[in-house]
Amino acid sequence: MSRPDRPPAVAPPTPSGAGDGLRPAVVAMAGYAPGEQFNDPDIVKLNTNECPYPPSPRVIAAVREALTGDKLRKYPQPLGDGFRKAAAKVLNVDPDGILIGNGSDDILTILTRAFVPDGGRVVTMTPGYVLYKSLAEIQGATLTQLPFDGDWQLPDPWPAAGAHLTIIANPNSPSGTVVQNAEVTRVAQACGGPFVLDEAYADFAESNGLGLLATLPNLVVTRTMSKYYALAGVRFGFAVAHPRLVRELVKVKDSYNCDVLSLAAATAAIEDQGYYADVRSRIVAVRGRLTVALSELGFRVTPSHANFVWCVRRDRPVKPIYEALKARKVLVRYMVYPSGEGLRITVGTGPEVEQLLAELRRIL
Ligand SMILES: *Cc1c(COP(=O)(O)O)cnc(C)c1O
Repeated sequence: MSRPDRPPAVAPPTPSGAGDGLRPAVVAMAGYAPGEQFNDPDIVKLNTNECPYPPSPRVIAAVREALTGDKLRKYPQPLGDGFRKAAAKVLNVDPDGILIGNGSDDILTILTRAFVPDGGRVVTMTPGYVLYKSLAEIQGATLTQLPFDGDWQLPDPWPAAGAHLTIIANPNSPSGTVVQNAEVTRVAQACGGPFVLDEAYADFAESNGLGLLATLPNLVVTRTMSKYYALAGVRFGFAVAHPRLVRELVKVKDSYNCDVLSLAAATAAIEDQGYYADVRSRIVAVRGRLTVALSELGFRVTPSHANFVWCVRRDRPVKPIYEALKARKVLVRYMVYPSGEGLRITVGTGPEVEQLLAELRRIL
């Protein structure tokens, strides 16, 4: 296109953000880059930790039922009372201590907005879940990222007391490692502020932090239906905390942050523990085979308590491996941290993992 003879009367908004009214904190941030999402059915998708099996048939039935009568015409329950009752029974917690969210990312947003002032401080671990950084930046807060030690454990003594919010994923992503409850307790007491345990993957692990809620008033445990419950497309997550705290957090959330369909799906899913126990045992079995096979191919694989494994190499960069896999329609997650790079690979079905391994043998 040729240049116009005269400049336009009104200058177009500059991408730098100067003068367009955006908060400087928003202009300065890079923004969270979610994992790649493709609709190509031929792609073996092992990059964003979705469950490789379908959700419980009871979920499909519940969503169908939610489409009947005038349920779509009316607003949903603002606090998700039906879900809270069902989840409280399964998890053995107080229903008033459950806060529902449009995915657990919504829950993490609510927590950041509720606890972190402009100019505040958020503390987390690295390598860890990258979204916490974006949440802190939106809020105009600084993020302190403490390095895990060589065994993926927390620093002792805890060096970052007094933060407005401390968030740790347990099991951690991308490592799949777990911090034991005694350590969670030590840090929750030492951090001197709200402490969030992001348990997106706790359903795959042998222990979790829900039992600590009775003794740690500053603890918030977050969960998602996206991974274990095979409902990433539905968007539902929740937090468990002291009911007094949940009453305050409710003021920060959108009034109707979960819709009728997601509430129906999440409630049916959490009620069908038998179905998901079967899914878990399949994933744990494939995870074991994947770990052994990747080690045989020369990767250093961190023993995982989640539905993915983290693997690194000493002898060669892994980005070309990620790219070669992608060219062969196998998608894994390539991640770079200050401490180094690696591949995070979701535990798929047995055949999916066999295909990954066959391609890796050809590439390497
Ligand atoms: C996937 C994930 C979440 C977010 O899950 P939602 O889909 O938003 O419910 C939160 N934390 C960690 C560590 C995750 O991996």
